[in-house]
Amino acid sequence: MKAMGPLPADFAVATQGVMILGGQRAVELVEAYGAPLFVYDRDVIAGQARRFREAFAGIGLHYAVKANPMPDLLRHMAGMVDGFDLASSGELATVSKAGLLRSDLPLSFAGPGKSDADLATALANDVCVHVESEGELERLLAIAAAGGRRAKVGVRVNPPFGLKGSGMKMGGLASQFGVDHERVPALVRRIVEAGAEWRGLHVYAGSQSLSAEAVIEMQRATVALAGDIAAELGLTPPEVNLGGGFGIPYFAGDKPLDIAAVGAALAETLAARPAILRDTKFVIELGRWLVGECGVYLTRVVDRKVSRGKTFLVVDGGLHHMLAASGNFGQLLRRNYPVAVANRFGAEPEEEVSVVGCLCTPLDLLADEVMLPRAEVGDVIAIFCAGAYGLTASPQAFLSQGAAREVLV
Ligand SMILES: *Cc1c(COP(=O)(O)O)cnc(C)c1O
Repeated sequence: MKAMGPLPADFAVATQGVMILGGQRAVELVEAYGAPLFVYDRDVIAGQARRFREAFAGIGLHYAVKANPMPDLLRHMAGMVDGFDLASSGELATVSKAGLLRSDLPLSFAGPGKSDADLATALANDVCVHVESEGELERLLAIAAAGGRRAKVGVRVNPPFGLKGSGMKMGGLASQFGVDHERVPALVRRIVEAGAEWRGLHVYAGSQSLSAEAVIEMQRATVALAGDIAAELGLTPPEVNLGGGFGIPYFAGDKPLDIAAVGAALAETLAARPAILRDTKFVIELGRWLVGECGVYLTRVVDRKVSRGKTFLVVDGGLHHMLAASGNFGQLLRRNYPVAVANRFGAEPEEEVSVVGCLCTPLDLLADEVMLPRAEVGDVIAIFCAGAYGLTASPQAFLSQGAAREVLV
């Protein structure tokens, strides 16, 4: 037997053996929309946003669209955050189609490899471009000049530190992300001299941290770095984006990030910040922490088989929708996401099974040797923590299997 991650608190309560999502039975949602199905619970997202506001008074909250760009979810999110961070012009198009190009929802655009077309689209839509290199800035300025527009520009900084113990370490090293911190003052001078609007600094040093200490240390270092850059320039950055990196529990033994502690420490850090940052607006950008736990991937059992004493539940979904649960989305070590039998939710675990997807590859393992209540063909398996980096972070075309549906409830 192998352990699985903890069920998210919002879903951990069983109602007479049925799993309820947004007030509806999971199995009825599958009947109505078809399987495999991603269900996103709007109340769970709202709860996270509320917890953020309680812990971080006065700090801006941005949503990193790449975590989950489902249009209904974006519309729901738009009422709860102060801006969207984009990582491609495709995301800008999604936001636009969702009807969310609004003056009260500022957009910023970070990411390496922005093409001239990306930059032109960003300029035309009043998106603040977070430049990742000197070359990118020059292309942006040239495109803005040719179109008679004034660019809004932030500088993504490659800091001399990273987020300790985070899933994906960035910072402190050579990087395709951001401009090395010692070269930032010269770049900002160039922005200002060219007549563009300098919007500030953006430091993103890592992701998926459950350590309050590590996040606190990163935020302190970021405020200090912003102060140093501002002092060298003699200019106050209008905005400093402190990045995010807030993680959620996925695996056995994971404990939620203590955001009250992070919020209290950030308030202290900011109270003691250098005078040159007094009028700076501070922002935190989050993806996974806001939406990761709102999502459940529901997939039906199509076969039950025993091979050499091991029981397999073969489902109609797989890693083509939920790559991360198979352990192939950047994890060093395969561990089990929290899973359940949706139509026997809360029942006692009875047997050890491995849940495998329908793809012809041994990589398509969604839960390995976990204890579950007995599930038959037609039953519905739920995989939790599917709200971020689920469907759009999976190789949907691989093996030409069916599409997954998505619904916000
Ligand atoms: C991916 C990304 C995020 C979101 O990260 P999460 O781990 O989902 O919170 C935020 N900012 C930048 C620059 C990113 O690339």
